[in-house]
Amino acid sequence: MNRSHRKRRTSWIDITFSITLVALTIATIFLAFIYIKNEHVQFPQNIKNVTSTPTVIDTIDSNYPGIKIITETSNDSYAPFAIQYPQSLHSSFNDDVSTYIKNAKQDYLTKMEENKQIGAESPGELNISFETFPHRSGNYSFVFVNGSYLGGTNGVTQIRSFHLNPETGKSITIEDVFDHDQNRLEKLTVLVRESLYNDPTLKNFLFLEDMHFHTEPLWSNFANFAMTDDTIIFYFDEYVIAAGAAGAPIVAVPLGEVSDIIASEFKIKDTSNNEQQNEDTQTGEQNLESDKPEDDETGTTPEESIEDTDVITPPLDPSIKRVALTFDDGPDPKVTRQILETLKKYDAKATFFMLGSRVEYYPDIAIEVKEAGHELGNHTWTHSDLTKADAKKISNEINKTSSIIENVTGQKVTAFRPPYGAVNKTVHKQTNLPVILWDVDTRDWEHRNPIQLLDQVKMKTKDGSIILMHDIHQSTADGLDAVLAYLKNEGYIFVTASELLSW
Ligand code: ZN
Repeated sequence: MNRSHRKRRTSWIDITFSITLVALTIATIFLAFIYIKNEHVQFPQNIKNVTSTPTVIDTIDSNYPGIKIITETSNDSYAPFAIQYPQSLHSSFNDDVSTYIKNAKQDYLTKMEENKQIGAESPGELNISFETFPHRSGNYSFVFVNGSYLGGTNGVTQIRSFHLNPETGKSITIEDVFDHDQNRLEKLTVLVRESLYNDPTLKNFLFLEDMHFHTEPLWSNFANFAMTDDTIIFYFDEYVIAAGAAGAPIVAVPLGEVSDIIASEFKIKDTSNNEQQNEDTQTGEQNLESDKPEDDETGTTPEESIEDTDVITPPLDPSIKRVALTFDDGPDPKVTRQILETLKKYDAKATFFMLGSRVEYYPDIAIEVKEAGHELGNHTWTHSDLTKADAKKISNEINKTSSIIENVTGQKVTAFRPPYGAVNKTVHKQTNLPVILWDVDTRDWEHRNPIQLLDQVKMKTKDGSIILMHDIHQSTADGLDAVLAYLKNEGYIFVTASELLSW
C-alpha cells in the first residue's frame, strides 16, 4: 500500500515535470522567433554596405490619410545617408518609389566604395527628402529632392516626382494633365521657356542651348512636376539647364495661364464661374511671386535676359575660336603632373583653381604649374559652400589661399572660382578677383571616364566656352589628350580663363 502510494506520487511528479519542460521549450522557441523577427525589422539585408554601420529604419504616419513616411538613416562615418520616402496602401506606387530609392542609394554607395578603393578619404553624404502637394482632384504629387555629395568634389541635386491618388491607387502623368495632346505640349513648352528666360535668379546662369534641348516638346522633358490647386510646378536637375550657382531650377506656372490647354479635371474651377476663376488666377500669380528668392531684380524683360545670358559666351573674333580649360580642386602630385605634360604637348595654357589646403601639402606641384606658364586661380582653402558662410569666414578662405599660392609660387593669383559655383553678393564683396564660373561641365567627378569626358566636351563646347575639369581624377588626366586633340582639330585655340574674359 505504501509502495503503491509512493508509486502514484512519483508519476505525478513525472507528469508535472514533463509539462513544465514542454512549456519551457515552447516559450523558448516563441521568444527566439520574436527575436529573429525583430532582428530582421531593424537590420534589413538588402543594402550594400560600404561599412558595417547598420541602417536604422523608422515608419511614422503622415498628416495625409493612407500615407506613411519611411526614414532610413545610416551614421556611417564615410558614407552616411538620410532618406525619407512615402509608402501608401497601393503596391504599384510603393514599388516604384522603393525602386527609385533603392537605386539612388545603391548608386551613391557604389560610387563611395569606388572612391574608397582609389584612396579617397573625404566622407560623402546622401540626403533624399520629399515634399507632398495635394490637389483638389484627389491626386498627390510627391517631389523628391536627392542631394548627393561624393566627397572632395561637387555635390549635385536631382529632382524626381511621383504621383498618387490614394483612393484609386492611380498615378497621373504629365500626359494626363494635358490630355495627351501634342499641340498643348508645344504651348506648354513656350510658357516654360518664357518663364525660365524671365526668372531673375537664373539671369547669367542659363545654358541657353541646354535649356532649349531639355524643354523640347517631349513629355519626358516635363515629367518632373507637381500640381497644386492653383499652380503647376516643373523641376529641372542642377547643372542641366543652368550653372550650379543657380541650383536646381524650378518653373511655377499659374493654372490660370494654362486654362486653355489643361485637362478639365485640373482646371482651376468650373469655368462658368468667371469671377471665381479670376480670383484663383490672381492667387496663382501671387504664389509664383512668393516662390522667387528675396534678391529679386524686377523689371527684367525676356529680351534683356536673353542678351545677358549670351554674355557668358560672347561671339568673339569670328575667325578664331577660343576655349578656356580650367582644372579645379588640385594640386595633386600624380594627376596634375600628367595634365601638365599633356598641356605642354599641345602648347596649351590653362587655369588651375587650387585649394589652399592642397597647396600647403604639395607646394612643389603648385610651382610646376606656375613654371609651365598657366594661370593660377583661387578655389578657397577648405572647399566649402561660401554662400553659407559669413563675410569673415569667406574673406579668410579666399585670402589665406591667395597668400599661400603667391608665397609658394611667387606669382599673383588672378582669378577666383567659388566651390560648387556657389556665389552671392556677400561672396562678391569679399574679393577683387574676377569670379569665374563655367559653361561646360564635363562632370568628370561623376563619371570618372575618359570617353565620357570627351563626349561632354564634344556636346557642349562652343566658341568662348569655359570648360570645367578636376585635376584630382586620374580619368581626367587620362582623357585629356583626346580632348585636346579634338578641340585643336575643331580649330580652337587654348587660352586662360582671364584671357578669354578680357578679350
Ligand atoms: Zn571644386
